[in-house]
Amino acid sequence: MKIFTTKKELQQYLLQIKGLHKSIGLVPTLGALHKGHISLIEQAQKNNDVVVCSIFVNPTQFNDPKDLEKYPRTIEADIALLEQVNCDILFNPPVSEIYDDNEQWHLEIGPMEQLLEGKSRPGHYQGVTQIVSKLFNIVNPDTAFFGQKDYQQFSVISKMVELLKMPVQLVMCPIKREADGLAMSSRNIHLTTADRQHSLVLSKTLNWVKENFNRSEIQQLKHKAELMISAEEGVELDYFEIADGETLLPANEDTKTIVALVAAKVGKTRLIDNVLLIHGQ
Ligand code: AMP
Repeated sequence: MKIFTTKKELQQYLLQIKGLHKSIGLVPTLGALHKGHISLIEQAQKNNDVVVCSIFVNPTQFNDPKDLEKYPRTIEADIALLEQVNCDILFNPPVSEIYDDNEQWHLEIGPMEQLLEGKSRPGHYQGVTQIVSKLFNIVNPDTAFFGQKDYQQFSVISKMVELLKMPVQLVMCPIKREADGLAMSSRNIHLTTADRQHSLVLSKTLNWVKENFNRSEIQQLKHKAELMISAEEGVELDYFEIADGETLLPANEDTKTIVALVAAKVGKTRLIDNVLLIHGQ
């Protein structure tokens, strides 16, 4: 695997690849890689000739400095994992390579920015669009791969690509879960043994809502789900929403694509998860 830490060297190398008319797939990550990330790499390998994984703990998407400081960094293990799955290129720049001092960014992405994750993490999606647009401009990928795990992030990035008319195709990959249902996340390593048990209420509740879903009972289902999660010891619910899969506004009986999304603090760790209830019907 080729490892680059500067834009210039990466771009020089990618120019040769593009000269050979090879397609490029990009998988942006914050590192601390797990099987969820690897599933994105594997999907990228199926769709493209050359795969670039980026590992960059992007400071501008963290609204809480403590969260940024605490974010797991496991670059050596990440490199070993990427080599194991034959990823072609790793882009692992330092912050100074990506940002100038006092750099400004604002993209008007509409109401979605203020909802759900956007509401709980002010400025988060400005940081996300800022870094993803930079990565798209540096790598110029044919296709970029993101996880359904961050459903709202995918919607926000789709909106950005549309607004800025970026020539990249986006692919959303399914959520990888542990055997007991917990959605894989780099943050899971912060869970204590007790937290780990309590965290299961999130995927269990989402599954329960999926099994019992009925368009005419959205409010009741949401209410029951909130009660189920709030009843779990050590779990502090942030939001549970049954939303329109396109706008992320609350769903109603006529909504075509419906997704249930949850965020909660389990012990000291904030987790998110979601499940598609109805897809485009
Ligand atoms: P992160 O490093 O957490 O920013 O994640 C990088 C990419 O991996 C994002 O597109 C995530 O949605 C995706 N991802 C994270 N966890 C999972 C998972 N459990 N299954 C599938 N994709 C995931």
